[in-house]
Amino acid sequence: MEGRLSRVRAAMAESNVDQLLLSIGSDLPYLTGYRAMPLERLTMAVVGASGPVTLVVPRLEAPRVDAREPGFLDVVPWDETDDPVALVADVVGTAGRVALGDETWSTFLLQLQDSLAEAQFVAASPLMAQVRIIKDDGELTALRLSAHAADRVADRLAATVFSNRSERDLAAMVGAMLLEEGCDAVSFVIVASGPNSASPHHEPGERVIQGGDAVIVDFGGSVRGYHSDTTRTFHVGEPPARFTRMHDVVEEAQRAGVAAVETGVTAQSVDRAARSVINEAGFGDYFIHRTGHGIGLDVHETPYIVEGNDLQLAPGMTFSVEPGIYVPGEFGVRIEDIVAVVDEGADRLNISDRSVRIVG
Ligand code: ZN
Ligand code: ZN
Ligand code: ZN
Repeated sequence: MEGRLSRVRAAMAESNVDQLLLSIGSDLPYLTGYRAMPLERLTMAVVGASGPVTLVVPRLEAPRVDAREPGFLDVVPWDETDDPVALVADVVGTAGRVALGDETWSTFLLQLQDSLAEAQFVAASPLMAQVRIIKDDGELTALRLSAHAADRVADRLAATVFSNRSERDLAAMVGAMLLEEGCDAVSFVIVASGPNSASPHHEPGERVIQGGDAVIVDFGGSVRGYHSDTTRTFHVGEPPARFTRMHDVVEEAQRAGVAAVETGVTAQSVDRAARSVINEAGFGDYFIHRTGHGIGLDVHETPYIVEGNDLQLAPGMTFSVEPGIYVPGEFGVRIEDIVAVVDEGADRLNISDRSVRIVG
């Protein structure tokens, strides 16, 4: 935590930020280990150039803060009749340039702009992302444990009977399995069957899975706050040639994306490598999203693996490679693994079988 704080302070100095304000979301736990409840009462950390970090927190939530843990927290609890925005403004004082965490309720931003009329407000995301994008060894370990728990769920799913279960039932089973395999919490579960599999973020519903369905299962849990996110596409019974062909193309695209990962190459080059396989196979119009996203304390964070992102990959970055083909009214296929950039290229954190999994 001390190391993180000094890296964040260096980034603040570099961008001429006098004070950094963090509220709900993952920047605060990244820096302090404490995650604020995303409720209407204000929690806000004030990070200056030196000294302790002040944490203004509702009194009833103060017992959840372990101030000994990071060792540099000065906890300021506020009572129901206090004005927490005034407390924050007091701590900030006469700062010129204030960086505000992206995940802060707009009502607090508006009040802070009133109370600190002289201050110039900028987004904290560029400086926080710059630090958070490179994972340290502890973070990589948590991400790997989380990925392997998801892999064990994927393997268990391959031995599960899908037919006659609703998407919602199967999603509940996946959630239970993630906890059984060692996740602290379930992050999300998508089960998309038959024609629903053509919708990348389909919400599992009452549709009952049946023979002949393609089923996309995309899921993740967290270990010490670090998420997994993996997708496998299943087929209930022997798949038709058209499905197998599309699955082969997506598998090859996924392989090409992972193979393109190298220190110094751009994020968009990974997208191009995966996309060109799908384009050349004639399915380009059906690949309707970016190839991937960073992952860590958030399921989606920088770096985004998308055309136009010329950020250079560096060791310690972690992201998904998840090409897909979605034919409306018919079916979809997606394969997703998390990779970590290492000196030699990509280290796949997910190791479960990516080939078509035929289920009953
Ligand atoms: Zn997604
Ligand atoms: Zn996913
Ligand atoms: Zn993903």
